[in-house]
Amino acid sequence: MTDKNKKQFYANQAESIIKKLKLRKMEGYYADTMDEAIKKVLELIGGPSKSIGYGGSMTIDNSDLKEKIKEAGHDLIIRENYKSEDEVRELKAKMINADTFLMSTNAITLDGELINIDGRGNRVSYLIYGPDQVIVIAGMNKVVKDVAAGIDRTRNIASPANTVRLNCDTPCAKTGRCGDCLEHTICCEFVITRASIVPGRIKVVLVGEELGY
Ligand code: SF4
Repeated sequence: MTDKNKKQFYANQAESIIKKLKLRKMEGYYADTMDEAIKKVLELIGGPSKSIGYGGSMTIDNSDLKEKIKEAGHDLIIRENYKSEDEVRELKAKMINADTFLMSTNAITLDGELINIDGRGNRVSYLIYGPDQVIVIAGMNKVVKDVAAGIDRTRNIASPANTVRLNCDTPCAKTGRCGDCLEHTICCEFVITRASIVPGRIKVVLVGEELGY
């Protein structure tokens, strides 16, 4: 339970970030709780029956968002169901043409830049191009001062936690800090989103809770 002073701090900080997002042609919203955020996401998805893709995200996986999307009658593209080479090709086509792509972010700066790392690059590729809109859901624990702090957060918080979750043979999975590995690395692509070329395509829902890694 986040205390009321911290909640107010989160709301104040979110308000400042949302103003900066606007300058970058991204839309920003603030939700006090994940339940409120889910309502906002459903509103932004619109309807009826939209196609929805999603990237790997503990913020999303630890919530009811996917269930609520299915209950609302949307076509949720469940990537785990696409296994063979042909199915994966079909998945890529569906994802790039999705109405909405959902993800979190590894970090967001006080100036509204998004910082993400990826192994295969599928998640960041749909952030950059393809789906009509991208909705980023981020707990306020993802907020950092600047891009350098965001990269530091990905290397020393997000990735070490994810490598433990995925049972990876990387230095960070053992030590809890980045060892700048290459052999089994999950840090292949570092993507910094400065702005959206399509106004409003990227929407960021900040949530006044600690969510994900
Ligand atoms: S570069 Fe390697 S050690 Fe560093 S965070 Fe990424 S996976 Fe971990």
